[in-house]
Amino acid sequence: MRTKISDLSEAALRGDWDPLIRESEKAQGKHWAENARCAGRNTNMFFPRGDGPQSEPVETVERLGLSLVGPLNLCAACPLTTAARCLIEALRDDEEFGIRGGLIASERSALRSRWQQRADKGAVVRALRGSTAALSKAERNEVIARFATDPTSDAAAVARGLGITHEYLLKLARTYRQKRRTELAAPPVQSANAA
Ligand code: SF4
Repeated sequence: MRTKISDLSEAALRGDWDPLIRESEKAQGKHWAENARCAGRNTNMFFPRGDGPQSEPVETVERLGLSLVGPLNLCAACPLTTAARCLIEALRDDEEFGIRGGLIASERSALRSRWQQRADKGAVVRALRGSTAALSKAERNEVIARFATDPTSDAAAVARGLGITHEYLLKLARTYRQKRRTELAAPPVQSANAA
């Protein structure tokens, strides 16, 4: 049976992110969207009115009805690797609106919040070793913190793992260390009830 993007997003919703991430990683590089079915089309249909992160998904699908058929058919016909990368990019950028990877915005809300809570130690270690990975914000921050506090880290590998330049990685590490110093130097917050 052919795997569909909906199979991958449903598995992710159940907490199994591996199939979606592995598929998205096959669409490497900056030009991953060249084969997308939506490439060159009017993007307005991918932003249906009345759909947003706070909308109720089932009611929204019923209410928007036929207007969703066109964009969702394009998503369903999109190459699986492209659709998976599309969905991962939307989660990574925390995109609240629009149809991405076959999910309308309200359907994507639950997946967005699960993605933000993701804290996969294995993904952090792989990124530190230079394997480019789709990281949640928490995982990305952990990679930067570990790089900034471990002088033995391999900067070239970590930059590759995060998909950023060496210079930008060093800047992020400096910012992290500066922030930590400020936090450690700050006086403890007095309780309002303290005498
Ligand atoms: S899955 Fe993403 S890239 Fe593919 S048609 Fe839908 S919105 Fe476009």
